[in-house]
Amino acid sequence: MPRLPAVARNVRNLRTYVGRVPNPITDSTRNAQARIRGADATVSVCPYCAVGCSQLVYVKNGRIVDIEGNYDSPINGGTLCPKGSATYALIENPLRLTTVKYRAPYSDHWVEKPLDWAMERIAERVKQTRDATWQQRDAEGRLVNHTLGIGHFGGATLDNEENYLIKKLFTAGLGIVCIENQARI
Ligand code: SF4
Repeated sequence: MPRLPAVARNVRNLRTYVGRVPNPITDSTRNAQARIRGADATVSVCPYCAVGCSQLVYVKNGRIVDIEGNYDSPINGGTLCPKGSATYALIENPLRLTTVKYRAPYSDHWVEKPLDWAMERIAERVKQTRDATWQQRDAEGRLVNHTLGIGHFGGATLDNEENYLIKKLFTAGLGIVCIENQARI
């Protein structure tokens, strides 16, 4: 009879001699499946820092069920730091903030406002400030068509495509010069 390879022999020995024999296994353990079984995996990027670790986002029935490190990535090779590992909770989290806090000029307290209200307010203020600080020519009469009254400071969550759109809208569209961002792959 041919000899089994060493690994197979060890597995057989484990089953035969280790713990109670036969090993007691409940039906729920026997039928347990990985939580990502049957889910579609989409490659994404961790939203937190400039390392830019690649993630696999697992979706089942239209909902994200898990987010893990992508083994194919040369950056993180399947790993994620504790913050990146918690990305799932960024999406599925009953405590996620869905409003903003607003403190009116000269007020001593904050009030809660909906996001749509905040978006409108930001748009209004950008328009007001741009109109008030628009400069067509500089002190030497050179054509500049810009505003120095508004700046944009981005975080590492923004990827190349988003930064491209920010630069296109804010600089080419609105004439904002002061735009900065944390580097990101
Ligand atoms: S997993 Fe950690 S190190 Fe990687 S991008 Fe996210 S926050 Fe940065």
